Amino acid sequence: MSRPVAPTLLTADPKAGFVAHADEIRAAIERVLVSGHYILGPEVEGFEREFAAYHGAGHVVTVANGTEAIEVALRAVGIGAGDLVATVANTVTATVCAIQQIGARPLFVEIDPATMLMSPAALERILRSHEGKVKAVVPVHLYGHPVALPAIVELARRHGAKVVEDCAQSHGAVIAGKRAAMWGDAAAYSFYPTKNLGALGDGGAVFTMDAAVAERARLLRQYGWRQRYVSEIPGRNSRLDEIQAAVLRVKLKYLDAENGVRRERANRYLAGLSTVPLRLPSVAPTAVPAWHQFTVRTPKREALRAHLAERGILCGILYPVPIYRQPAFADSTQLPETERACDEVLCLPVHPGISAADVDRVTAEIIGWSNS
Ligand SMILES: *Cc1c(COP(=O)(O)O)cnc(C)c1O
Repeated sequence: MSRPVAPTLLTADPKAGFVAHADEIRAAIERVLVSGHYILGPEVEGFEREFAAYHGAGHVVTVANGTEAIEVALRAVGIGAGDLVATVANTVTATVCAIQQIGARPLFVEIDPATMLMSPAALERILRSHEGKVKAVVPVHLYGHPVALPAIVELARRHGAKVVEDCAQSHGAVIAGKRAAMWGDAAAYSFYPTKNLGALGDGGAVFTMDAAVAERARLLRQYGWRQRYVSEIPGRNSRLDEIQAAVLRVKLKYLDAENGVRRERANRYLAGLSTVPLRLPSVAPTAVPAWHQFTVRTPKREALRAHLAERGILCGILYPVPIYRQPAFADSTQLPETERACDEVLCLPVHPGISAADVDRVTAEIIGWSNS
């Protein structure tokens, strides 16, 4: 008799996120269908209010996706054509697409090899060597691990730069007792289906503690309108639709519980893999990560990836190539720690659809590989 085939494990499972709340999501969508209101109506308003309340304070302005959330956030804090914007190169190209889309120029900051997040010391060097010219810093809370926000915000303020946090992977993360997103001048969220808070399509939001920034973002997302047909500033169209907002209102109720499952799975990996020769994620003492990914490092990444793939465990590589090496963004930057991270990272399945037994199976396969 052949062994039953274990199910394939993936690094994200948006369908499981739907199935877990299917009845509530169907009812929410039905509510929109019969309301006759499909754009900027009560569901968007409700979600914006509820997501702001989730942070405990602040303002939420929804937009069409996470990339446009970064664009709108940057413009809302006054960044525009020709400005230098410091960010990292181990991120999704979206972060840099947004910077370029508004005519600004990206500058890439080296990461801290321990966390794989923007290094405050490297940021300080960039801010000093371009004194007064770097107008904004876009730190990325990669894998759901909050960057060293107190230090980064302090450095940016001292050098006259705004901070726009890229929170596309960090819904719910906390550092030094305060949620990521609440430290900078503005923050950008994505609700792409694989994110910790995911819609059933595209979606995004600008978060800010500053009412004036929220007001500008609100104008920018719809043609510069405060009042219908009156464009006060040059704006654009970037709106979240009512159906996605209704879905997100359901999903938001479960975000903390689902992040709790992620944390439990992550802690199980950390315990189970503690003796394996892999570099495990390190958590800053004051941080509560959102565990969007559980990312290990090994110079033998390709061998481990293939070993797990043969056993139905499909790992992600976020991200294989630094942005400054992408054809569209190629420049002469060289950041050795960033490049090493891109060569070594492997993201194990950690989403809420992964059971403790799944974690044990992945762990056992990795231990088997390391002993072979
Ligand atoms: C997903 C993501 C984005 C872009 O979001 P979209 O909704 O796909 O436009 C930006 N930054 C990071 C770090 C992301 O993970």
